[in-house]
This record gives sequence, structure tokens and C-alpha cells, in this order.
Amino acid sequence: MTRDLNNHYDVAVIGGGAAGLSGALMLARARRSVIVVDAGAPRNAPAAGVHGLLARDGMTPVELLERGRAEVREYGGRLVTGMVTTVTRADDGFAVETSDAQTLHARRLLVTTGLVDELPDIPGLRARWGVDVLHCPYCHGWEVRDRAIGVLATGPLSVHQALLFRQWSSDVTYFTHTMAPPDDEDAEQLAARGITVIDGEVAALEIVDDRLTGVQMRDGTVKPLAAVAVSPRMVARADFLAELGLRPAEHPAGQYIPCDATGRTEAPGVWVAGNVTDLAAQVGGAAAAGASAAAHINADLVAEETRRAVAARRDPFSTQAEARVCELVLGDRRHGLETTP
Ligand SMILES: Cc1cc2nc3c(=O)[nH]c(=O)nc-3n(C[C@H](O)[C@H](O)[C@H](O)COP(=O)(O)OP(=O)(O)OC[C@H]3O[C@@H](n4cnc5c(N)ncnc54)[C@H](O)[C@@H]3O)c2cc1C
Repeated sequence: MTRDLNNHYDVAVIGGGAAGLSGALMLARARRSVIVVDAGAPRNAPAAGVHGLLARDGMTPVELLERGRAEVREYGGRLVTGMVTTVTRADDGFAVETSDAQTLHARRLLVTTGLVDELPDIPGLRARWGVDVLHCPYCHGWEVRDRAIGVLATGPLSVHQALLFRQWSSDVTYFTHTMAPPDDEDAEQLAARGITVIDGEVAALEIVDDRLTGVQMRDGTVKPLAAVAVSPRMVARADFLAELGLRPAEHPAGQYIPCDATGRTEAPGVWVAGNVTDLAAQVGGAAAAGASAAAHINADLVAEETRRAVAARRDPFSTQAEARVCELVLGDRRHGLETTP
């Protein structure tokens, strides 16, 4: 049996990370009825702090989102926990269903579900992800500056990643791991920047006292390191959008949901923001994209409401006029009903 969340909203935000909460804040402040459905697993959860975020540098990911949720609630936005599994078109928008059989309806969708980092299959690596197994020098480079950093070649951007990490440390080693050795041009660049290349597969991580101390090669040799960088394959979390005809597009680093500069997708009424569409977005960029998409959603709703109002004004006895009256009455009721749980 499904439990109807008993509400029709202007906008359902699916995913309550930086992008989703930022979008919800804008919409709630625009006096839109908005609900955020969030599964509670932001991508940066393993990290100790959010870095490179102006005025909030180093704040824990948990605290950042707690503050964001409080701000959304402050303006009457509703937040529920749940994993959205199905989205279908309904009369005047969308029906959204979660894995625990909650349902809701919304006129527009803002999808901000982020991405999955597919990590290399090396024993012990997943447990160190976000601690001393890293991917982004802007997130963690400062914390491992001047330390011995190993870059495991796991994707087409690995040479670029090694050259980037060289900005933070002069002790960078490039492991070919499961990729082909660098071509002549890449080898020359790595050599010119003093980056050692080790040809061979990394078999395991060396961990001592809850700290990474090195990597063990397939031939048993150990290379001491303080941090390892990998390039995960980054895959948008949005299977449920297939029902609406939205499928991920390929990117050299993974898969993303395409959209225009405002976050609008090819599916009418559906916007996306954050890592689900921009694999490289950091927290600040994801939040900004969420806010921008929200403003465009509000403008879209305003345009629709204006069209209906004009039709009703021209012909007060039309069905458009009836719809407009219902909309006004429902809208008033909604704003009375939608208290934060
Ligand atoms: C280890 C690590 C460290 C990082 N450190 C930094 C840093 O220091 N600074 C920085 O700026 N960036 C950092 N990042 C990048 C940062 O994580 C992203 O920029 C940010 O999380 C993107 O926000 P988002 O809202 O798009 O996605 P997320 O933060 O991933 O939020 C998506 C939310 O949607 C939810 N969700 C997913 N699917 C569903 C569904 N079907 N139904 C309902 N909810 C769903 C998820 O549970 C999650 O809560 C780091 C990333 C990693 C992996």
C-alpha cells in the first residue's frame, strides 16, 4: 500500500545535498510550496571537511547540510527522508514515489541526486575514500601538500590528475596500474615535472594505525606514500528519469544528465543541478546551480500562471478560468497546510 504524502506541491526537489537544498531555499523564499525528498547520502560524506567553500571552509559536510535544511524549513519548505524510485507524468505535473511507498505530486521537478563514484577494485581502498584516498586536488590538495602522493592511473584523465597534484607536492608518483603506459607526449610531460612513473599494478593499500602508509605492487614491492589519488568513474544517480525519457549521456569521466545553461532538461518540467549534470561541480558550484535552476523553475511557473490568468480574464466562463479559481483556492489552502514536520 502506498502512503500518499497527501500533498500537491509546486516543486519536488529530489536529492537534498548542496544543489537540492540551495534550490529548495530559493523556491521556498519565492513562496512556492516545495518538498525535498532526500536519501541522506551526500557524495562527500566520508570527508572531514568541505574545503574551498567561501566563508564555510572546513565545515563538516554534516553541519553544512544541517544548516541548509534549517534554512529551508525556516521558509516553510518540507523535508522528507526517502529514496525516489519512480517518477511518472500525472495530470498537471508529476507523481513521485519512494522505495518505502510514499507518494507525492508536483508541478515541476528539480533533480539534484548527485553521482556515484565507482572506485577501483583494490582491497582496502573504499574504506580510505575521502580520507587518504582522494580524487580532487582542490578538495584535499592543501591537506596533503608536500607529502608523497601516488596517482593510480584509472581513467583517461589520470595523467592530467598527476600533473595537477604536482602543484601541491614535488613528490608525485604515477602508477600505470591497469592502464597502458603513458604515450611519448605524456611521458615527456611527467618527466619534465619530475613525476616518477612506476609501471605495474597496485595490488593493495598498506594501512598502519588507521593511516595509509603506502601501496603494495602485484610483485610484492611496497612504495611508501601518504596519499593515493584515483579517478573514479562518476555516474549520475538518476535511473528513475528513464521513465520520462531522460537518459544519461557519456562523458570521458562517466555519465551525466544533459541540460541547458539554466538546468532545464529535454523533458518538459524537469530541471537538474549539481553533480547529476555537472560531474566536476564542487559544493559551491552545485549550490549555485541549484539556486539558478530554482529561479528558472519559478519563472516558468509564473509564466504558466500568467497564461492562465490572461485566458481567464478574457473568458471568465472558460475551463481555464475554472482551473484558475481552483488554483487560487488550492494555493491558499496549501500555504496554510504545509507546515514543516
Ligand atoms: C571524498 C569527497 C570529498 C569532497 N570534498 C569536497 C570539498 O572539500 N569541497 C567541495 O567543494 N567539494 C567536495 N567534494 C565534491 C562534493 O561532494 C560535491 O560537489 C557535492 O556533493 C555535490 O552536491 P550535489 O547536491 O550535487 O550532490 P550530493 O551532495 O551528492 O547530494 C545528492 C543527494 O541526493 C540524494 N539522492 C540520491 N539519489 C536519490 C534518490 N533517488 N532519491 C532521493 N534522494 C536521492 C543523496 O542521498 C544525496 O543526499 C568532495 C567529493 C568527494 C567524493
